[in-house]
Amino acid sequence: MRAQGYSERVPLSPDEYRAPLARAALHAGEWLDSVPTRPVKPREGIEALEAAFARSLPEHPSDPAEVVDELARLAEPGLMAIGSGRFFGWVMGGTLPAALASDWLVSAWDQNNGLRFATPATAAIEERAGAWILDLLGLPTTSTVGFTTGGTMANFVGLTAGRGAVLEAAGWNVNRDGLTGAPRVSVLVGAEVHSSVELALRYLGLGEPTRVAADAQGRIRPTALAEALAAAEGPVLVALQAGNLHSGAFDPMRECIRVAHEHGAWVHVDGAFGLWAAASPRWAETLDGLGEADSWATDAHKTLNVPYDCGVAVVARAGAMQSAFTAHTSYFIRDDAGIPDPMDIVPELSRRARGVPVWAALRSLGRTGTIELVERLAANAQALAEGLTAVPGVEVLNDVVFTQISLAFGSDERTRAVTQALIADGAVWMSGSRWAGRDVLRISVSNWSTDASDVTASIDAVVRAMAAADARR
Ligand SMILES: *Cc1c(COP(=O)(O)O)cnc(C)c1O
Repeated sequence: MRAQGYSERVPLSPDEYRAPLARAALHAGEWLDSVPTRPVKPREGIEALEAAFARSLPEHPSDPAEVVDELARLAEPGLMAIGSGRFFGWVMGGTLPAALASDWLVSAWDQNNGLRFATPATAAIEERAGAWILDLLGLPTTSTVGFTTGGTMANFVGLTAGRGAVLEAAGWNVNRDGLTGAPRVSVLVGAEVHSSVELALRYLGLGEPTRVAADAQGRIRPTALAEALAAAEGPVLVALQAGNLHSGAFDPMRECIRVAHEHGAWVHVDGAFGLWAAASPRWAETLDGLGEADSWATDAHKTLNVPYDCGVAVVARAGAMQSAFTAHTSYFIRDDAGIPDPMDIVPELSRRARGVPVWAALRSLGRTGTIELVERLAANAQALAEGLTAVPGVEVLNDVVFTQISLAFGSDERTRAVTQALIADGAVWMSGSRWAGRDVLRISVSNWSTDASDVTASIDAVVRAMAAADARR
């Protein structure tokens, strides 16, 4: 019997999926073909795009292939070429071919990757991707790895596990009794902590952290951390940073982690883009001791170049993630192997199998390819810094140790004018920011496809922007 008010579904065509997917592949191919040579900035701004999409909800169904065509046509003028080798804005990677194509499969498969029992293929793929990450980054192989939407949520996962653990050590069960009346948790972070760590602490009800002095490159000072730890009362969380947004610098891991552990603190490392340096022997000394921390956060959608959105949360202590994130309900069927289900270790219950593109990226690069990718990003940053240092009137403000460069052009006013001119020019994209008390133009080399010609074109674009800015003054 049919429910009242529902009509029989009428198939639109014999190949309902094939036709729109073929259109999507065509449009995607056209877009991707254009990315290496098109200007990076969108041709049209938000007003034009809102106008392009300003129609009321259609009254009736449409052919899916036509919907895809319309979408591609209307969106194209407003797309930023984030996948361009000349995109250096914020910290955003492009997407590797194997990662992109496998991401399409993730959508086609439509697995709700929560339970090992129910979605064994994607659960197994994510477990393998997690194991490969631990291997590559030299993190304890017994750690638990969860896939989140990004670095912010990966920081949230690590800090949640840490909050539970330090409170438990102080005799308080936060899962059962909440935070009200709990011992106050002291949170220590470097002076140049990323705002996402502060967001995560806010979500956790831990308020604003205590900022510990950092050096000129933004690295936390171990002596200042030792002093702050000595002054801290009660349970303590310490958040270190592997990869400073403005300088790329890494906090001194071994010394900081040792002193924090002496005080019984939990140490979390925010390595949204910089944790990947641990894959290369080049940064082995810089990151010495990294594996001694208790939790780590990174992004796969930055340095590893998988599509949005994909973050990675790693927690060393078995059970620390589950105790925070396991949902106790009657309707989940559990595997009895004692291995956590995907939904036991991250905030979401329902989610896409976002670890699959990580598997594909690592499977396609292999160990040497991953190391080469990380080293190439840094080498391109080095080449950009050297080329720009040679231009009169350009100051490179940081020691270029990884993928980040902060530039100034004399006064703050001139730096802002050059930034505006560069963005208006559109051939490249770099971000304006403020660092070390000055306005800066920041370069983040995060795209796998950036090559020598992109480096040259980008230096030329900065020179053009300087001339344009000066002509306007
Ligand atoms: C990007 C970034 C984050 C936040 O990651 P999202 O993926 O944007 O949530 C955190 N820390 C650092 C150092 C970052 O660069």
